[in-house]
Amino acid sequence: MQKVVILGGGFGGVRCALDLSRYAGDELSVTLIDRNSYHLFTPTLYEVASAAPIKEDDMFHLQLRRSISIPYSKIFAGKNVQLVQAEIASVDLVNKRVTFAGGDPVRSSLAEVRRTRAFGASETSNGIDFDYCVLALGSQSSDFGIPGVYEYAYQFKTISDGLALNKKMQELFRDIKEGRAASPISFLIIGAGFTGIELAAELASCARMLSKKLGLDKRAYSLTLFEAAPNILPMVQDKERDIIVKRLTELGVAIMSNSFIESVTSDSVKLKSGQTVKGSAVVWTAGVQPSVLLKSIHGLELTPKGKVPVRPTLAVSGLPSVYALGDVIEFIDPKTQKPVPGLAHTALAQGRVTARNIATSIKGRQLKEYVPYYDSWIAPVGAKFAVAHLGQGSTLTGFWGWLVRGLADLRYFMSILPLKQALALFRRDLMLFSKND
Ligand SMILES: Cc1cc2nc3c(=O)[nH]c(=O)nc-3n(C[C@H](O)[C@H](O)[C@H](O)COP(=O)(O)OP(=O)(O)OC[C@H]3O[C@@H](n4cnc5c(N)ncnc54)[C@H](O)[C@@H]3O)c2cc1C
Repeated sequence: MQKVVILGGGFGGVRCALDLSRYAGDELSVTLIDRNSYHLFTPTLYEVASAAPIKEDDMFHLQLRRSISIPYSKIFAGKNVQLVQAEIASVDLVNKRVTFAGGDPVRSSLAEVRRTRAFGASETSNGIDFDYCVLALGSQSSDFGIPGVYEYAYQFKTISDGLALNKKMQELFRDIKEGRAASPISFLIIGAGFTGIELAAELASCARMLSKKLGLDKRAYSLTLFEAAPNILPMVQDKERDIIVKRLTELGVAIMSNSFIESVTSDSVKLKSGQTVKGSAVVWTAGVQPSVLLKSIHGLELTPKGKVPVRPTLAVSGLPSVYALGDVIEFIDPKTQKPVPGLAHTALAQGRVTARNIATSIKGRQLKEYVPYYDSWIAPVGAKFAVAHLGQGSTLTGFWGWLVRGLADLRYFMSILPLKQALALFRRDLMLFSKND
């Protein structure tokens, strides 16, 4: 029996586990380990941060949590995959063993999620042995050494981050309405990549709706996006960037480019130019780094950026039974000689190739090479408006872009859940998130 352990149940890890489960049986077992009991659908995290409640109560927060946290127990129901919910503390590639952090590894408070323990002779309460290991641990926030970022800024990576921001937004508006604070509320968002833009646009839509609902002036809020580069989204075409900038401006989002951040406090951002901008809350979306756990893995070589260099088959150089994918890898695109970006759909494609290569390697057959494709993206820019770059010069804007984005989400849900559950999740999210559109 060959034991495959997949470390991390993100986009790449889940795809890899689902594909490998087809081969699981007497010859192969598949175990997925994640600290959470759910797979986080990050592309709609900005909706969680900005969703406005009809009535704010615990139920609303639970609904928000459920909207993008898809329980592994649903994804893998009836599949030949064992789940372990645990914090991975270390990985020993020589002795082929993963060790969990001590204590009770169950961290989720979601009632419907049960912890499915891995079984097999090689598992103990604090670890599991493997023959093949897939490193799919994703990325985490990076402050680039800027003082105050971790201490004072809202981060934007996990479901708790999205919920904390949502709560702050509601609190600020309530304080103004009840006379405990003076307007305007101002959000300072650092980083004008896709994440920062989507968040700023949707927070602006939410702020507009809340102002109206509470009878406040239009000038009761402001949003500022800080970008270190001369232009936002340097990787997109000029005409697409112009559409996004115009839309952000219409929504009342101010863009401050060429703005290098020197330090952050809970209510201000200090720029390298010496200027200090005051605000009600600071949000950090400017930087990620690969999982820092990688640095502790003995014998694993990393690039200067802390990523795992992989072979074209996604196997780690010199370690044929270790694969890596998604945000943790550096894969140089042979066409452009540039690194393939860390995206949900590139991680998915890599998950597929990894599953196939592990299965074929066990059978002693020829491995397949990963061929990168990433010439498509969709940027939602507030309410029912998105810019969808569909590759080969084709772009859809506005409502049609938003529709394509919705269909892409539905397609993904259908690829990991049974049809009925995928449709129910899609419908639920649509109802929940379109209230402030
Ligand atoms: C807010 C936001 C919005 C985004 N929007 C988009 C988008 O619209 N389109 C797009 O293509 N990409 C988007 N991305 C990027 C995309 O989410 C990532 O590129 C993608 O998730 C990478 O997949 P992955 O499988 O490598 O890792 P992840 O999806 O990050 O999964 C890693 C998993 O490993 C687990 N893990 C990590 N460390 C440990 C540990 N020590 N112990 C146990 N478990 C651990 C984590 O819990 C997680 O489940 C967005 C990212 C963010 C943060």
